[in-house]
Formats: sequence, C-alpha cells, structure tokens
Amino acid sequence: MSIESRSPRIVIVSDPGELRDQLQDVLLTEQFDIVSVITLDEYQPHSLTAQDTDMLLVDLHESEDAELDLDLVDALMEETEIAVLFHDSASNLVVTGWQQKLVKKIQQLFSKQPPKPLESLSAEAKTVQFKQEKIGFKSVPINQKIGELLRDIVNLSQADLDQSLSLQSDEKIGQVLLVQDYITEKDLAQALALQQGLTIAKPSQYPVDPVMEEDISKKFLTENNVIPLAVNGEVLTIASLSPEDSFIRDSLVMLTGMNVVVKVGVTSEFSAAHERLYGAGQSMMDQIVDDFDGDAEDDVEHLMDMASEAPIIRLVSLITQKAVEARASDIHIEPFENELKVRYRIDGVLQDVESPPSYSTAAVISRIKIMAKLNIAERRLPQDGRVKLRVDGKEVDLRVSTVPTMYGESVVMRILLNDSVLMDFDTLGFDGEPREQFIKVLMQPNGILLVTGPTGSGKTTTLYTALNKLNVPGRKIITVEDPVEYQLEGVNQIQVKSSIGLTFSNALRSIVRQDPDIIMIGEMRDAETAQIAVQSALTGHMVLSTLHTNDAPSSLTRLMDMGVEDYLVTSSVNGVLAQRLVRRLCPHCREKVVAPPEVVTELKLSQYTDDEQVRIYKPKGCERCGKSGYKGRSVVVQMMTMTDTIRRMVMKHEDATAINHAALKEGMATLLDDGLRKCLQGVTTIEEVMRVTHDVSQ
Ligand SMILES: [Zn+2]
Repeated sequence: MSIESRSPRIVIVSDPGELRDQLQDVLLTEQFDIVSVITLDEYQPHSLTAQDTDMLLVDLHESEDAELDLDLVDALMEETEIAVLFHDSASNLVVTGWQQKLVKKIQQLFSKQPPKPLESLSAEAKTVQFKQEKIGFKSVPINQKIGELLRDIVNLSQADLDQSLSLQSDEKIGQVLLVQDYITEKDLAQALALQQGLTIAKPSQYPVDPVMEEDISKKFLTENNVIPLAVNGEVLTIASLSPEDSFIRDSLVMLTGMNVVVKVGVTSEFSAAHERLYGAGQSMMDQIVDDFDGDAEDDVEHLMDMASEAPIIRLVSLITQKAVEARASDIHIEPFENELKVRYRIDGVLQDVESPPSYSTAAVISRIKIMAKLNIAERRLPQDGRVKLRVDGKEVDLRVSTVPTMYGESVVMRILLNDSVLMDFDTLGFDGEPREQFIKVLMQPNGILLVTGPTGSGKTTTLYTALNKLNVPGRKIITVEDPVEYQLEGVNQIQVKSSIGLTFSNALRSIVRQDPDIIMIGEMRDAETAQIAVQSALTGHMVLSTLHTNDAPSSLTRLMDMGVEDYLVTSSVNGVLAQRLVRRLCPHCREKVVAPPEVVTELKLSQYTDDEQVRIYKPKGCERCGKSGYKGRSVVVQMMTMTDTIRRMVMKHEDATAINHAALKEGMATLLDDGLRKCLQGVTTIEEVMRVTHDVSQ
C-alpha cells in the first residue's frame, strides 16, 4: 500500500503549547492523518500499539526532565518502527523552516524514494547522542535494589514503584511489577543481570540436548529453576531464574567439582527450553514444526510455496485458534534477530506464548498476508487487510496489519468476535449510582455526553453500547468514526478519510444537514470538530463523543483549551463519564479474604460496607480462566453531571482541580471509589484498581 491510497497515521505526544499547535497545523495542511494528540503524562507505553500508528511525533523536553524523557523514547522505539523525535529546545525551535523540513522527512519515510541526506535532522542526531551518553553512565553499583534498578531501566515513576512496593507481601518486587504490567520479563532479567554483574542467557545458548544429565538430577533443576547450558573444560555454565541465590551455585560446585558461571534466564525462554529439555513431551507446535524445513531463500515464488505448505497452514491456524480460545483481543507476531515472538493480548495484558522457530518467520508472515489478501511481494511498506475465519464454530473477523521492522515484517491481528460486539451496561460493569446518572444524561433530548479516558480504556465500547440503547425505530443516528470498529444495524456510519478531505469536521458539517437526532463523533480531536459538536448540541441534537483526558473535570477545561467559549461549554455539556478497564476476577476460583487492617485504613475501605470485617477477593487461577485468576474486564467509572455549581466555576475559568473538589463536595464518586466498591463485591482486585487509577488525583 502506498502513500496515495492511505496517508500516514500519526500520533503526537506533546504537552499543550505553541509548538504543538504549530505541529498540528502543519500536518493537517499537508493532509496527514493525526490519529490523536496526547500529553507526555497520558502516554503509556503499553497502550499504544505500533500498528495503530505509523509514526509517533514526540516533543521532547530538554532541561531537568531529559533523563525521564529518554526512557520514554526507549519505550517508544520498542513499539513503533518510525519515531521522529522532536526537540523543543530553544536551539531547534528557532531554526526557521523546521515545519517544511519535518513534512519533507515524513514524506520521505512514506514514499519509495531513497532518503536523501537532510540537513535538518539535528533533533534525531541529538537524541542518538543523548542515548550514547546515557549508556555511558549506566554503570550500576552492585546490589542496588532491584526495584530501583527497574525504575531506571523502564519508564517507571517513583510513585508507581512505591505503589507496587506497598502491594508486595512475600513475593519478589519484580513479580509484583510484572503482574501490574509495568515491566516485561526481559526488563526483569536485565535488572537481575545488572544487579549481579551477570549476562543474560540468549535463546540460542540453550542446548539442543540436556547437559550433564547423568550428574545433576532433573528434580534439582526443576525445583531451583536451573538449566545447565554448556561445559567448557572445568567450567559449567548455567541459566538461572534466581541468579542472586548463592545456594544454587554452591550446590552445583559441590556436585560437579567444576567452576560454575551463572547467566540470567528470561522466564518465557527459560520455561520453553526447560519444557523442551526436561518436559513430558513435544508440544503440538513442536510436532507441526518438525514437518517443516524452512530455508533462507525468499523470492516471492518461493515464499508462495513455503506459505502453502501444510505445516505452515496448520501452524498459523494453531496460533489463531489458541488466541481465540484464550479470549485474546490481539495477536502480535514479531520477528527479532534470532527468534519469532508470538504474544497474545488477553484482558488488556500482553502475554508471551509458544512461538514457532525463527526459520519459519518468512513462511508464517507470508501465510498470514495471503489470508488477508495482502501483497506478499511488498515487504517494505505497512499494509492492512481483513480475514474471516471460523474457529470452534464461531465467526471470527481478523483485522490484520503489517509493518516492516529491522528483522522482517511484524504483524498484529485484532480479533473481532461477532457475537461479543453488542454489550449491555451491566455486562460492561456499570452499576449503582454512576450507572443511573449516566443513563439519565444519555436519555436527555439534546446536549453533549462525553466519555473520557486514556487509549485502551474502553471508551468506544461504551459509546456503541449507548448508541445501541438509543437505536430505536424513528430515531436517526449518524456517526463519524475513524475507524468504524463495529457495524450497527440501522445506523449511518461514516468513515473519516482525510486523504480525500473527508475529515471529522467536514463530515460533521454535512451530516448536520441530514437532520439526525443523535450524532456520535469518534473523537473530538480539534477545535473545529468541538465547535461543530457544540453547535449541533445547541440546535437540538444529542451528541456523543470521546475526549482524551485523565478525569471528568479536565474535559471541561480541555474543551475551553480547544477554543470553545465558556458559556457554550456550560450550556451544551450535560455530563462527562471518565472510565478505565480493570481485569475481572474469575468467578469460579476467586478467593474471599479478610482485607489487611493497614489496607482498610489507608484506602478507607470501611465506607463501602456495613460489615464489621472488610472482605476482599484474590485471584487464584483454574482451568476456566487459563490459570490467570482473571476472566474478562469491567469498567471503573466516574460520572460527573453538569450542575449549577460547576457551571459557575467554568464561567469563572477555575481549573480542573477546583472543579473536581466542588463536584466531590456535591457527592460525585471518584474512579477509585467505584473501583474499591467493585473490589468488595468481588468484581476485581485492589491491585487492578490501583493500576488504572494511580494517575488520577483523588
Ligand atoms: Zn478461574
């Protein structure tokens, strides 16, 4: 797919300011498709997947935050193939003509012309320099605490770390961070390696056959999570998941009489090797792969042949089938130098699963591209397609997107199950007072109802559910979306196409003339869209839309920041729903426990129950939830309705914090309130609620 048929989708990560405004203007003028504009604070490395986006434009701060920003950049680089790093230091800003240079750079990245050297890449060059410096001072004092090391390795704030430490009971802090999705297994291994002055065991270093099988018992290896890697003269090299444990090394020295060198294992790689070397037998994937001889040739005809071989077809269908069984929402297939990695996103969390060998990469990717009717000869540009499948008798729609990376194309498949599209508010997790208020605002004849929250917080699903409730004969509903995610019966849905000039604001202007009763706008991205939304609300339409803010009160100030006059905000907005998604406890295996007294005190849990003793629930894991203890997701919400007090405050241009305080005084519940209430009901856990609400002021 070339630039003619689809314009690059861009996300701007930048705090509000002149630079951001200019950047937006330039990109819009050039017809680039701005997917969203988020602030540095709102950016969460795991919530933006690379394939939703072609490019991230990051406006870096220099100054005191430089170190933090570089961590952010590292995280970005991991997720997105092309990140142009923008630098707002005084030196770069005053360079005249930066706008044109940026546009030229983007055009180059997305066209087939070979890139010409550009004099304008000082920003990028500078970042590389920064990175080198950073590696330079990355020497770490031995035995620094693992939590602190991890904080420095990943983009983890002290507050997040403290919060995780407070959740820690007898498990290791690395495990707590892992469960909360703050770090990956690789991060943990890297931190352990740094702390102990060791190196990480690479996947290729695991032996083909067990090493020293006669001398070391399988039981010892299994109980202590050790794999002998190799023997070299008098040296035995092992991989370990607990490299800090000197007992293991000492035992092996005694047992073998050799010197023992320890390498740090990455959990999933270690487990796969352990299963292969000492496990009961071959997995299904191993059996399939045994029948396939991959080779390095990769001309198109050859790819076609390989992709049509029976083992490859079975391999790909095994990957999709397992994903559907595991209730995954996305399948990520990512080639790296020596491995092909497969990960499923389950209940919002990416999890490593069994992967085919690296030599099958080209065949697997080609097979998926053939299924999605993509051009298998094109491997240098991103492509999008769709596949319809039947898995276990269910219709499954896969939205496939490919993006070229250093070691081949990376593929993300979004799984859309046709039967899970339409939800009701109960199923989504709405209940109590917030649910009643939300429905009340939804049922008003005109005005704006906003749903707000970070990417991946389920805003779209809530809007679709709301539309479904409003969708009765005699009402005309029109939506403007990008992309149209679900098709709703009897609703006119318009897909934004900015490459042909059909932007949100253009589409809106024409649909107002179609005399709808209800308008749904996928997202209020720019001032013009916001203005038209307000006008429509004031002329008798019900308008539903989303905004990208952390909490409900900030939405009102955001609208004013977008240029909507204060009196128009107060007269059009009826209510704002802020929401997050938490993982739902598996009802089959959750365990009821007495909440620890310090948790009860700190979170004031007694206010949510009449019982003397506060009880909460813990995840356990059973067959029905894939041993994770969680199954499905629930919303955690905050509903703010427009009251006279809030109207007065908006007119006085009070800030979001002040509005928040006033709304709380009038009885509005916080996201935390709703979440904790759900913990006591057994819907979810304190950990989950803290994970999604820690960024909100209470
Ligand atoms: Zn279970």
